[in-house]
Amino acid sequence: MAGQVKTLRLILGDQLNYQHSWFKQEQKNLLYVFMEMRQETDYVLHHIQKIVGFFRSMRNFAEYLRKREHEVIYLKINDLRNQQILSKNLSWLISEYKIEKFEYQLPDEFRLDKQLKDFCKGLSIVSEAYDTEHFFTSREDLAKFYEGKKQMTMEYFYREMRKKHEILLVNEKDPEGGKWNFDKTNRKKWMGKPEIPHERGFRKDISETLQEIRKAEIKSFGNIDAGKYNWPTSREDSLSVLNYFCKNLLVHFGDFQDAMHISEAYLFHSRLSFALNTKMLSPKEVIDSVIGHWRENQDQIDISQVEGFVRQILGWREYMRGIYWKEMPGYKQANKLSNQNKLPEFYWNANTKMNCLKHSIKQSLDNAYAHHIQRLMITGNYALLTQTHPDEVDAWYLGIYIDAIEWVEITNTRGMSQFADGGLVATKPYVSSGAYINKMSNYCKGCVYDVKKKTGENSCPFNSLYWNFLNTKREYFQNNRRMAMMLKMLDKKSNQELSKIKERDHSIISNPQNF
Ligand SMILES: Cc1cc2nc3c(=O)[nH]c(=O)nc-3n(C[C@H](O)[C@H](O)[C@H](O)COP(=O)(O)OP(=O)(O)OC[C@H]3O[C@@H](n4cnc5c(N)ncnc54)[C@H](O)[C@@H]3O)c2cc1C
Ligand code: SF4
Repeated sequence: MAGQVKTLRLILGDQLNYQHSWFKQEQKNLLYVFMEMRQETDYVLHHIQKIVGFFRSMRNFAEYLRKREHEVIYLKINDLRNQQILSKNLSWLISEYKIEKFEYQLPDEFRLDKQLKDFCKGLSIVSEAYDTEHFFTSREDLAKFYEGKKQMTMEYFYREMRKKHEILLVNEKDPEGGKWNFDKTNRKKWMGKPEIPHERGFRKDISETLQEIRKAEIKSFGNIDAGKYNWPTSREDSLSVLNYFCKNLLVHFGDFQDAMHISEAYLFHSRLSFALNTKMLSPKEVIDSVIGHWRENQDQIDISQVEGFVRQILGWREYMRGIYWKEMPGYKQANKLSNQNKLPEFYWNANTKMNCLKHSIKQSLDNAYAHHIQRLMITGNYALLTQTHPDEVDAWYLGIYIDAIEWVEITNTRGMSQFADGGLVATKPYVSSGAYINKMSNYCKGCVYDVKKKTGENSCPFNSLYWNFLNTKREYFQNNRRMAMMLKMLDKKSNQELSKIKERDHSIISNPQNF
């Protein structure tokens, strides 16, 4: 039983579950360890706000445990005892503290899972892995659900989850509101109204943590205002973001979920992904709070807003986790469209004339955040249309966003956005010409390019890229029913038109710095 022998318990940076049963047990002979390590800060180039966010959240959680009389050892990044590699630190701790048993929670990343399994194989003491007690599903549930079925679609998995967990259900089997999915009503453009409440920011002074990161000479990118750090870094902060979302943003969440705007980085999005992915909040409590708030305010909030939100967390988030564990490690090499190009330099500095990309990238560099449609239909769309190698696309997404942890980043990027898995996550590639971007945003109004022009000097680059992409990759989509209409339209283009498209496309892909 835990606590009888001297036990070391590891808590990783994304395992900050304040409600885990570990902390409810008798705490005799238990030593908790947190480590800030170069192996974690350096495996990809991270946004500076992301590094600060993880360090601050880990420190706050360690402090919380100490205050409750748990024994905690915390290795900060510049601690002289810190060997910066998980296995080395663990070996040292086991010997230094005469540890008799090692315990950890199952990591969400394949990389860390393997590292810990390998480490435990070489141990002469007993080790045990525990569930993180965070997700609705286990690692294997999705694979079991789709066993023997021809096609995987998120929708059926989502319905099953609704039934299993009795969420938005009537008569134990039917969807509340008469429909499982209100997605069709969630596609409004935001034109300045309704007013968007100011985001729930914290404006914290994080200069001390920043100085420590600078002293350690950790490489990073992106912008930060050391006196006004805005992300939640404790359970209290996280609950307050959740509360703020329910009271102020939920009412229009679904309606404007796909909208984009030059001056509104967040619109009605919750900004809960960092608190969720670090486990400071559980998906169940987020869903319960949102539904609870809606039940008390049904006269003001439509079910479509609530269902749209629940689907993201109960559906997409759990689905992506299932795909990750079903498909890894092979998923990391998937490049079914054989894309080989480099990611343009402007992804790292926002230095482009294309207004949609300029704003989406600038907001990402400033906030370590972009909402789903910016990630999918602006930066992701452009990377796919320009046939960028998925490794390059993954590295950018994994680094830039505060919520980017491989299990949810790679499935969204390589899968949903880049179609590199050949259609496992997305049933058709998420690509569009400028028309979609113009429909959902105000980017095109202030752009030097003409969204209506198909080819030629100042034509919107997305237009020629779109048709050239379909033309170049058509063999991959030939049997995809959802692409049939677009391929038919492509067939109607004359040779002359296609050669103009090709010419424009060639100059965009080979000289991205000029656009
Ligand atoms: C190319 C690409 C890369 C992405 N990378 C990540 C990533 O690294 N980490 C990450 O958490 N999300 C990622 N997403 C999904 C989604 O964009 C973010 O979860 C969302 O933008 C976070 O902002 P929010 O909390 O304001 O979300 P909201 O729009 O308020 O949505 C609420 C919550 O739903 C969940 N959610 C919504 N969509 C998804 C999805 N597709 N997959 C999983 N969960 C979802 C998130 O937990 C989110 O906090 C990515 C999407 C794309 C297209
Ligand atoms: S015109 Fe084209 S490049 Fe410019 S903002 Fe619109 S979609 Fe983007």
